[in-house]
Amino acid sequence: MIVEVTKGIKILQNAVIQQDKRLAKAMTGDGSFHITLLVMKLNDDEVNIGIDALLELKPFIEEILQGKHLILPFEGVDTFGNQVGFVKLAEGDHMNPLLEIAEAAKRTFQEKGILAGESRSFKPHLTFMKLSQVPWLRKAGVKKIDPKFYEKFISHRFGEEMLHRIDLCSMLKKKQSNGYYHCESSIVIGKRPIGIRDLINEALQRERMVLKSKVKQIKELLFQPETQAKIRRELFEGRSINNNNQENDVDFSATLT
Ligand code: AMP
Repeated sequence: MIVEVTKGIKILQNAVIQQDKRLAKAMTGDGSFHITLLVMKLNDDEVNIGIDALLELKPFIEEILQGKHLILPFEGVDTFGNQVGFVKLAEGDHMNPLLEIAEAAKRTFQEKGILAGESRSFKPHLTFMKLSQVPWLRKAGVKKIDPKFYEKFISHRFGEEMLHRIDLCSMLKKKQSNGYYHCESSIVIGKRPIGIRDLINEALQRERMVLKSKVKQIKELLFQPETQAKIRRELFEGRSINNNNQENDVDFSATLT
């Protein structure tokens, strides 16, 4: 997220905190602002399939964008049920391609058989606070985000951000040191990757994918009964070779004396 949008959100967060200091802990860290395209529950094997799916998604996104950048302007504030506070994506021409990208992502993951079926409609937003992050707030009587907390920002223009990367993130794993989610994989969007770091990341992810699939094959092989029988045989033979070597050692030392 670029500085301009982050800066605006920080000002909004501080304005809310000024009105109720207890809400400080409910604020989203500025390293983790994001737009969620899909939420899935994946086990380790499914994460590997997801990494594959993300790479497959890239050409579809390029087709949707036709070489153009997707600029996303953020304007105004709203909440989901007064529980989650978010900065809204402004209306405009950018909406259609973004919805198409979300649809393409859904389709790609569904075709791989790892999307259980998101029932919620896609509503692009940038979350800046979540009451659920602080369970004791409810007990302390803070049950809702009061609209007066953000009334000055109701039509505030927070700035624009270019879509430059799509990540497959874990919501549960430990966050990175920069405050952003743990990423299993990422794809860079746009004609040219944004920087050398993105290029390296993409190359590393491709390598990691190949490695992960090899590890999976090895695991499967190791669990086959015939492989296990072979290992046992080799171990047994290895032990008798070792015993023979020990005898040789004894023989050798015997020669010395
Ligand atoms: P996110 O910023 O995507 O991580 O979402 C923050 C929270 O908002 C999540 O805990 C979701 O439960 C909630 N949320 C996200 N999208 C919606 C939606 N379309 N309708 C209602 N709640 C949502």
